[in-house]
Amino acid sequence: MRWLWELDRKGLCSVLSRESLKHWNTWGVGGVAPLVLRPRTFPVLRDICVAAKQEGVPLHLLGEGSNVLVPDEGLPGWVLLLRDDPTPPALLGTRGPLREFRVPGGVSLRRLVSWSLRRGLSGLEFALGIPGTLGGALAGNAGAQGDSIGDHVSFLEIQEEDGVVRRCARSDLSFAYRTSPFQKEKTLILSAGLLLAPTEEAELRRRARAFGDLRRNQPRMCKTAGCVFRNPPGFSAGRLLDLAGCKGLVRGGARVSPRHANFIENVQDASASDILELALQCRERVANAHGVNLEFEVRLLGPTP
Ligand SMILES: Cc1cc2nc3c(=O)[nH]c(=O)nc-3n(C[C@H](O)[C@H](O)[C@H](O)COP(=O)(O)OP(=O)(O)OC[C@H]3O[C@@H](n4cnc5c(N)ncnc54)[C@H](O)[C@@H]3O)c2cc1C
Repeated sequence: MRWLWELDRKGLCSVLSRESLKHWNTWGVGGVAPLVLRPRTFPVLRDICVAAKQEGVPLHLLGEGSNVLVPDEGLPGWVLLLRDDPTPPALLGTRGPLREFRVPGGVSLRRLVSWSLRRGLSGLEFALGIPGTLGGALAGNAGAQGDSIGDHVSFLEIQEEDGVVRRCARSDLSFAYRTSPFQKEKTLILSAGLLLAPTEEAELRRRARAFGDLRRNQPRMCKTAGCVFRNPPGFSAGRLLDLAGCKGLVRGGARVSPRHANFIENVQDASASDILELALQCRERVANAHGVNLEFEVRLLGPTP
């Protein structure tokens, strides 16, 4: 393990031992990981993945932790953080009316959206108000109102568990509602090609405002992980939860948002089990009231109920 501390000393990877994962997810819950690693370069990232595989150490990948529930028991092995990458998008060329950019997976979605708006580039307005990294968004095909990140991808550069880096063409990638081919934690999205459209400022502002308005009925300034459940075909999960009387339900320090029934807030130092038990209670209510089995949208890390 000394080589990891050596990387830390050289500024190539920050290494935190016995680190509470509460600091690394938006719900602010979860136990400890033996090591939390933040590699600064792709070669270092690759070396870490290869070493973990060789030594049989479990590896968990997190971006900003805005779509995960980390268990109270913590996570065994190493947690890799791919976030806060300051690299700006690089113009690769034009494709008809569109511009193609390469963007690293660890770039913050918020920074990316505001960069695209400042540059007069349309395509990412749906992501206004969505926290997380580009890599996390791609892994879950994050989206809003029928638009999603997968719709704007031209290629992906990924790293397999054994450290091999591959380029996937758009034609080889299948994205669907909150689904990507990369939902296994073992495949890392290193960077993506994104296609964006130069657009007039007034039109861009109009689109941005329309997506921004959608956030009005969502909880703000609270610790949440976005929507807990996926929308079942033809229905809104939030509406079903609301009709089943879930708004305002409380378990320990967790509460179903009074504004939006598909959000669970950590209001008072909730544990991960408070959140999970509350989510399961809501799911049961919806099953009893509407005969619909909701599926989790957030990733439950660790043992699944
Ligand atoms: C207030 C709020 C509002 C939200 N609104 C929306 C919304 O409107 N629409 C929506 O879709 N989501 C929404 N979300 C959920 C979440 O923000 C997005 O899904 C986000 O894109 C997740 O990114 P992340 O970096 O936080 O991923 P994490 O939560 O860190 O990770 C999620 C999964 O992605 C994997 N992953 C992370 N980075 C990579 C990578 N580089 N390569 C491969 N896999 C990776 C992880 O292993 C994990 O399995 C919301 C969340 C919050 C808190």
